[in-house]
Amino acid sequence: MQEVKPDKKPMYMFWLIALVVLCILNMVVFPAAVNSRVKEVDYGTFMTMMDDKNIGDVTIDTDEIVFTDKAGTQIYKTGNLNDPNLVDRLFESGASFNKEIVKQMSPLTYYFLSLVVPILIMVALSRWVSKKMADKLGSNPTMMQFGMGGNNGAKIYVKSDTGIKFKDVAGEEEAKELLQEIVDYLHNPQKYTEIGASLPKGALLVGPPGTGKTLLAKAVAGEADVPFFSISGSEFVQMFVGMGAAKVRDLFKQAKEKAPCIVFIDEIDTIGKKRDGQIGGNDEREQTLNQLLTEMDGFDGNNGVVILAATNRPESLDPALLRPGRFDRRIPVELPDLQGRIDILKVHGAKIKTANGVDYSEIARAAAGASGAELANIINEAALRAVRMGRRKVEQQDLMESVEVVIAGYQKKNKILSDKEKLIVSYHEVGHALVAALQTNSAPVQKITIIPRTSGALGYTMQVDEGEHYLMSKTEIENKIATFTGGRAAEEIIFKEITTGASNDIEQATKLAKAMVSRFGMTDKFGMVAMETMNNQYLGGDTSLTCSAETQTKIDEMVVNIVETQHDKAKKLLEDNIMKLHEISKYLYENETITGEEFMQILSKKD
Ligand code: ADP
Ligand code: ZN
Repeated sequence: MQEVKPDKKPMYMFWLIALVVLCILNMVVFPAAVNSRVKEVDYGTFMTMMDDKNIGDVTIDTDEIVFTDKAGTQIYKTGNLNDPNLVDRLFESGASFNKEIVKQMSPLTYYFLSLVVPILIMVALSRWVSKKMADKLGSNPTMMQFGMGGNNGAKIYVKSDTGIKFKDVAGEEEAKELLQEIVDYLHNPQKYTEIGASLPKGALLVGPPGTGKTLLAKAVAGEADVPFFSISGSEFVQMFVGMGAAKVRDLFKQAKEKAPCIVFIDEIDTIGKKRDGQIGGNDEREQTLNQLLTEMDGFDGNNGVVILAATNRPESLDPALLRPGRFDRRIPVELPDLQGRIDILKVHGAKIKTANGVDYSEIARAAAGASGAELANIINEAALRAVRMGRRKVEQQDLMESVEVVIAGYQKKNKILSDKEKLIVSYHEVGHALVAALQTNSAPVQKITIIPRTSGALGYTMQVDEGEHYLMSKTEIENKIATFTGGRAAEEIIFKEITTGASNDIEQATKLAKAMVSRFGMTDKFGMVAMETMNNQYLGGDTSLTCSAETQTKIDEMVVNIVETQHDKAKKLLEDNIMKLHEISKYLYENETITGEEFMQILSKKD
């Protein structure tokens, strides 16, 4: 996408106009409002008018006198000559008079009119202008916005500009295969209509954030060579009540005019949440959802509008949306496996200049669990780093460093650990790694650093899984828990004191132990009974317990038991290898970084 630089000129113009308006208001309008109909006369005229009894209201100020004629048709002004007989004369002339210190308008009003009002006008103007400009910048130049009443947020991307094809989406072969049918249909609808088949109206792309759901939807449009409408679910509900439903109607109206086409609704869960019939529930969202359902039912499957929607919380969707004839196809878009990660790195790596001998499989292994978006980010960070280092090509070390940057955050240059803290962090991290290495089934570390990261981590251990694991044995889980407790165990053994540094380890260990009891059926006591259900499979996986309170108490006891057993095991392992613990920690403390090779060298060295 081409970036659009904000144009400076309109901003200058705006300030110029605002200034002129301010000056005009101050110079002309306000004084004029005050002085209109005021005629300046000499004192003689004033006296003559008094003698003629042709005088009405008189206001005496310290240095001027403002008065009207008898009929009150004209206001006059003259200087105040401090005439001692003035009051007598006025009394004789029959005028109504008083001494006024104020110049007709109260200073408050005057101040308000000449200062506050112009400022308010300026603020309103600047808001308006910047909103106009934001609208202008927000829309891609290659993208037209259209629709009834203008700004409905549904955008049509000119097809040549999406330009994204399936080959731009690495991995995700299953998803591509499922979507291929839709592409095929859009290319050649007769083939399907002849036989009497109607295509699914909608497909739901389900998976964690950043796995390429939007990218896949764009690729479908690109492959089929049809227009691509995209709107985010949250855009439907952010407006006033009733607007959401109108937007849905509008979107479908446009889509039908442009058929065949793809309509992509991102974050559909924001509108498609289960309608739970709560009192005071979100009416607006419900109306929007109802409108969406009506629209989806309204068009028949063969008019060429295909709706793709994406979500990362499929379980919260309203069942009505998932009924046949609506989003009846469900396409899982999972986090990439090792091969998928290598492919994604290659796709994005092709866009940058790399040195010879860059090994993407090493990067992919180091970035276990990263999403497509994170991998794309790793490549970009590496390119930025190469530039910072004054290189013309991206090297392996740039890529490796950026894996850490993306996963753990930037190195914090200005955060200096005290020596004592550095020592504790060294022992803590080596504690984890040593426990992991000493248990045969645990993955060895690739690298440990004790340079603080912007993510807040004080140290960082990069574990390396060689190959993918789809199953974990009970022993492996137990070893993993032991590894999590290894950091704290080292602190206890060496410093006889514990720190807050282990909070994340504790959380992870507890999660695993709990899953063993309540989901994996790995205890003798409960056997194969599920005590928990997963709620948010793709967003960190919250769970809710589905058992009685008594059972919960028992589960808690067992969790404590499991973790403590592993904690004791970790402590024993470290105590038995305390010389290695000292040696490796010293190395890490002095060098701030230790690689897996160096680590294993020290560990396997006979002393
Ligand atoms: P989602 O919609 O699932 O949250 P996106 O489709 O917006 O994720 O992906 C964000 C970015 O991540 C994409 O623009 C692309 O650069 C990168 N990306 C994600 N998955 C892949 C993939 N499978 N192949 C190539 N790039 C990917
Ligand atoms: Zn730790």
